[in-house]
Amino acid sequence: MLYLTRCLVPLIVLAVIWRQVSQADSSETTKEKIAIIGAGAGGSSCAYYLQRYSNHSYDITVFEKNCYIGGRSTTINVHDDPRWPVEVGASVFVKVNFNLVAAAREFELKVQSYGSRKVRGKDGLAIEDLFGIWDGRKFVFMQCSESSWQSAIKLLYQYGTSPVRAHLLYKKTSTSFLALYSQDYFPFANLTEISRSRNLTNITSETTFDYCTGHGLSAGYVNDIIQAATIVNYAQSVKQIHALGGFVCLAVDEALEIEGGNWQIFEKMLQKSGATVRLGTEVSGIDTSTKSSGKWNINIADSDKVEEFDQVIIAAPYYQTGIGGVPLQIKDAQYMTLYVTLFTSTKRLSSTYFGLKPGVPVPAMIFTTLPDDEQAGSHVRPWFNAISIIHYIPDRKEYVYKIFSPSRITPEFLRLIFDKGAEFSWVYEKIWDAYPRLDPISNFSDWKVDNGGIWYLNGIEQFISTMETSSLAGANVAALIVGANNKTVVSVP
Ligand SMILES: Cc1cc2nc3c(=O)[nH]c(=O)nc-3n(C[C@H](O)[C@H](O)[C@H](O)COP(=O)(O)OP(=O)(O)OC[C@H]3O[C@@H](n4cnc5c(N)ncnc54)[C@H](O)[C@@H]3O)c2cc1C
Repeated sequence: MLYLTRCLVPLIVLAVIWRQVSQADSSETTKEKIAIIGAGAGGSSCAYYLQRYSNHSYDITVFEKNCYIGGRSTTINVHDDPRWPVEVGASVFVKVNFNLVAAAREFELKVQSYGSRKVRGKDGLAIEDLFGIWDGRKFVFMQCSESSWQSAIKLLYQYGTSPVRAHLLYKKTSTSFLALYSQDYFPFANLTEISRSRNLTNITSETTFDYCTGHGLSAGYVNDIIQAATIVNYAQSVKQIHALGGFVCLAVDEALEIEGGNWQIFEKMLQKSGATVRLGTEVSGIDTSTKSSGKWNINIADSDKVEEFDQVIIAAPYYQTGIGGVPLQIKDAQYMTLYVTLFTSTKRLSSTYFGLKPGVPVPAMIFTTLPDDEQAGSHVRPWFNAISIIHYIPDRKEYVYKIFSPSRITPEFLRLIFDKGAEFSWVYEKIWDAYPRLDPISNFSDWKVDNGGIWYLNGIEQFISTMETSSLAGANVAALIVGANNKTVVSVP
């Protein structure tokens, strides 16, 4: 009997181990296959949250046509020198961007306050003027290097109670929006419905100008200050952009950035997800011929290769993807063309061009607004949306400038805004389809854009277009997919 037990125990142990191994093998082979198209904030977050919510139950492939991760979160090193990184796309996020802040903490990325990174000039002192708002002819507002309470007094003096009212409206809107992260609402099956139930649709369906003046803000404050923010953030005027988009531009308290580039958050998310990331691989189509079997074929550009997936997540503005082959229920969105031009020069901008006395330094950060007669219909406007000095490079005695503009920055324009003799040792240009036109809207694309397994994240951009909201869309769709499979869902972040 003892002999029998001695023989049987190892056999039973072996059988148990074999069963576990074969179960693990079979679950490995039967993992649901998910394709994600786009490795920006949305696609990377979706991969990360799919695996986090399901304890790594999916076999994920991320297709990215660029040869780098991050999408519109792109960092360039001036003169190819990593000491001088500049964001050419998304530059900042804020403290209440819970997904990004939590991810930066989890991945031990160094978060720095945007404002704390003071640019120091030739004399080693912080550059004197903080910012000015230019209407194409004059500065309508200037804020010097003074304390925040001095700035507040200046604002109150110039615009009465409007700054306070604007802050209260922003806080109220922000509170309504942040509920989307709570267990009560997350994940939400439909953006249109959640926007209505959180009273956000009345804000998205009016222009910033109408909503703000309707809530007691002066037209002057909305045109000068809020419009400067909507132009720099979304290249749109207050009479065009919806009020939720307008309020996003007011979220400037505690602006943060990742040292070395915000894209690192998304790179780390993809690493953590264990997804197969196929850089330089453009998806050209989704083939419906296998739909009846519950599968989707993905076509790769410049290749005959076809790959089969159970679910497909489109994580890029649809019309930019060039994806064909399948009719999807996606609402059309027009994107704003934006030129981002970086260049270096040893000179500061011309005081004369900006109507200041010779020798008076031009603000290191200039936002723009439209002159009054532009709003009346004539077409005089600043040629740029914003100009700022990003760095001073001491060993080259050069300032690094960044310009946002609706059209190409020409050498003639640079000659105009600098005094004679200015030279530009390094120039870089990036043209973006930057963000959607945020016209007033009350209906948004569904997450599910086919009654099979195709999902679309970027409908959220017509609601709010930021890295955080793309990340939230990714987390939300991940939770819907995992929830439908009865796997555990936890709330974000
Ligand atoms: C100049 C600028 C400044 C901005 N400033 C800020 C800011 O300060 N803060 C902020 O939060 N947001 C900012 N934004 C907005 C922010 O960048 C976007 O809202 C966010 O990054 C969108 O992320 P996404 O993943 O949805 O899209 P994207 O970042 O556009 O990612 C989509 C990815 O899909 C890839 N792709 C597209 N088609 C295909 C295909 N067929 N096959 C394979 N891959 C494909 C693209 O190459 C891209 O990498 C800014 C944007 C710009 C352009």
